[in-house]
Amino acid sequence: MTSIVDNGAEPRNDHDQEWLGGTSLGHVIDHSQVDLSHKVILYLEGISVSFDGFKALNDLNLTIDAGELRCIIGPNGAGKTTMMDVITGKTQPDEGRCFFGQTMDLTKMREAQIAQVGIGRKFQKPTIFENLSVFENLELALKTDKRARHSLFAWLDDDSRDKISDTLRQIRLDHEAERDAGLLSHGQKQWLEIGMLLVQDPKLLLLDEPVAGMTDDETERTGELFKSLAGKHSLVVVEHDMAFIEQLGGKVTVLHEGSVLAEGSLATVQNDERVIEVYLGR
Ligand code: ADP
Ligand code: MG
Repeated sequence: MTSIVDNGAEPRNDHDQEWLGGTSLGHVIDHSQVDLSHKVILYLEGISVSFDGFKALNDLNLTIDAGELRCIIGPNGAGKTTMMDVITGKTQPDEGRCFFGQTMDLTKMREAQIAQVGIGRKFQKPTIFENLSVFENLELALKTDKRARHSLFAWLDDDSRDKISDTLRQIRLDHEAERDAGLLSHGQKQWLEIGMLLVQDPKLLLLDEPVAGMTDDETERTGELFKSLAGKHSLVVVEHDMAFIEQLGGKVTVLHEGSVLAEGSLATVQNDERVIEVYLGR
């Protein structure tokens, strides 16, 4: 007779194997949930990335708190976009650690997985569907959210409709819902793309030069939107527009040659001699 001895450690099948892989010191880590127990949502330590011997990131250290609105500034080539590539899994760092919350090691996850656990990225160029209406763009973004059990062919349920309506108001496109996205102004297209991220409820939003090419009025409205998102979401915003950064009012990190040159309030970094030297000019 075969006796089955369950010592609690032997995996019984593939599912258990996977499940046990998520245990540590006796407690289960839910991999789909970001662990914010230490109030930190993003933690980069000693990140380096080389392109043919050139160090685009060089021992970069950065910590973003949950709910924070952080601005990243720095001269062209400082490594700002490369940093976002590392966070989103597009680029694998040569060295360093990159964690989402306490438990998720982003360097061990694929791009699609990283998006699924709640990191949304907005690129410089909007990637909306010009031939679809504003509403349809949001609908598509909602339905491609892998975490939600939507069918592309199903009718929208009430929750989804509410989500889209709320988002339309947030991005100030509630009066443009039926318009073709291609007919929107440049600024409105940028807002629509932000809305397409928002319907997926990202915990962390990465925004690369979001107000480039916007009118002053659109820029200010974007600032209001970002400030309203902070708290519920964490935002990392790469920008050059100083008036916009001042409006956002958060902590500012200055990147230079792939590492942090200075960090603090906008006033603090604006008065930093090294920052003036390499970025702001005299
Ligand atoms: P920023 O966004 O701050 O302007 P980037 O992160 O785009 O800077 O680029 C940092 C440096 O890395 C630049 O010198 C750039 O030319 C280089 N770089 C970025 N991506 C690549 C790549 N895929 N291959 C080679 N060099 C790259
Ligand atoms: Mg860039």
